[in-house]
Amino acid sequence: MRILPTVAAGLIPPLCAACGRSCRPQAVVCTRCGRRLASAEPLSGSGPQGLDRVWSSALHEGVARDLVTALKLRRLLTVADLIADRIHWLAPADLLSGAIVPVPAAPLRARRRGFDPAGEIAAALAERIDAPLRPCLSRRGGGRQVGKRRAQRIGHPPQIQTKGEVPRSVLLVDDVLTTGATLSACARALRGAGARRIVAVTFSRRL
Ligand SMILES: [Zn+2]
Repeated sequence: MRILPTVAAGLIPPLCAACGRSCRPQAVVCTRCGRRLASAEPLSGSGPQGLDRVWSSALHEGVARDLVTALKLRRLLTVADLIADRIHWLAPADLLSGAIVPVPAAPLRARRRGFDPAGEIAAALAERIDAPLRPCLSRRGGGRQVGKRRAQRIGHPPQIQTKGEVPRSVLLVDDVLTTGATLSACARALRGAGARRIVAVTFSRRL
């Protein structure tokens, strides 16, 4: 069960999740970081192979990068809510339809972390847009994408399988878009299982 933001906020000291400076009670980020994030431009395009469209809310730098780090390493659910809010407010409305499918974490990473950032963002977004949440993908093996050389990451795409019934219209959700190899592997598996429309939204994108 997800911890309600109001409960979580009471347990976390009022420090900005991005820069660590003090901020208003109940706020996830300080005014300065909030302004910086608000000024970040979304990126969109045809995106990685196999996807109809992809959209990211910001470049993976500055406050956006700091928030992804806070979500991954400090497991702050309030950050997942802030990220879902930003996607909800800024993504083109026609993109935010279909069943929400989180991009699966590599099993080893997920086990070690006990927390799934993409899954948390996907759940928070599903609540906001009142869409069904369908975690119908799993990932076999595969090491960390981050830290590997780009050529290496592209050369060894992650192995993705579907589980259970796959929706015809899919909105893939992930925290960061890096090479697109993972999204392409997800799209391949989904199309093989009958998906017709596959779009993706991510909070940030590395260029
Ligand atoms: Zn801050």
